[in-house]
Amino acid sequence: MLISRGCINRCSFCNEYTDWIRYQFRDPTIVVEELAYQKSIHPTITAFWLSCSNLAGNIPKLKQFCELLTQKNLHISWDSQLSISTALNPDLLKLMKSSGCNFLHYGLESASNKVLKLMNKGYNRKTADRIIQDTIRCGIKFNFNIVVGFPGESNYNFIETLFFIKKILKYGISNSTAICYISPGSVLFHHFEKFKIIDYEQEFWRTKDSWNTLHVRKARQYFTKKLYQSKLLNPTLIKQSKFRNSKVAFKFFDLLSYLLFSLWLVWVICSLLIISVYNKAKFSLKNSTSD
Ligand code: SF4
Repeated sequence: MLISRGCINRCSFCNEYTDWIRYQFRDPTIVVEELAYQKSIHPTITAFWLSCSNLAGNIPKLKQFCELLTQKNLHISWDSQLSISTALNPDLLKLMKSSGCNFLHYGLESASNKVLKLMNKGYNRKTADRIIQDTIRCGIKFNFNIVVGFPGESNYNFIETLFFIKKILKYGISNSTAICYISPGSVLFHHFEKFKIIDYEQEFWRTKDSWNTLHVRKARQYFTKKLYQSKLLNPTLIKQSKFRNSKVAFKFFDLLSYLLFSLWLVWVICSLLIISVYNKAKFSLKNSTSD
């Protein structure tokens, strides 16, 4: 069910706010009435997806929606997506939980402060850490989206994001990872010079220094997915074993997974360097032959 449209944020890779000029959060009374109606005609449906790009775009209306839904006591749960916002404090998250919020999809995008700033996300890593911990404490499950290969993201910045993912794997949190796509209408699309983007042809763009090419972006996406899927790097897998109730065993497995993660990182860094150097050489050669 649609709850809002557009976005109040201005992330440089996104065209949501240019497609929908004005952010609109529907009247919470009407949304709750519509949920009650849907529940009355489909009594077996108890979970609803609240469709929007950013649920946290109008905090007073979000609060009102949660309060009305709690009062109505419809015995339903809901999921939605939102950006990291400083307004997401423990009180609001608890209110969301009590109204039936079951799962949130956060648009985190990166764990590097430098990249978050380039993306114009409007928050930093510290805020993201705080909100993630508060969401866990409130008992709301969630995942987050990551965008790799934003122009200006170095291998070091990418490793910062991998560290962040590794740190929260133990909470069983999933993520979805996309490579940076230049959406027509976005700030990125209109400012190639500023972001040092050249040779744009849909996903086949690169940065002027050739350190960020489609190969590099795909490799970063591959490694991010591998980190999440890896059985050895994810300590939650112990929960499927006979040691699942042992805190000591969990701690030991967590430490062991960090040791393996360090070794794996060496491989990731070497691979990324090889790909980057190969790309750099390839484009330098191409430029010299075309001169
Ligand atoms: S990426 Fe998300 S938060 Fe940023 S402008 Fe787009 S919809 Fe809004």
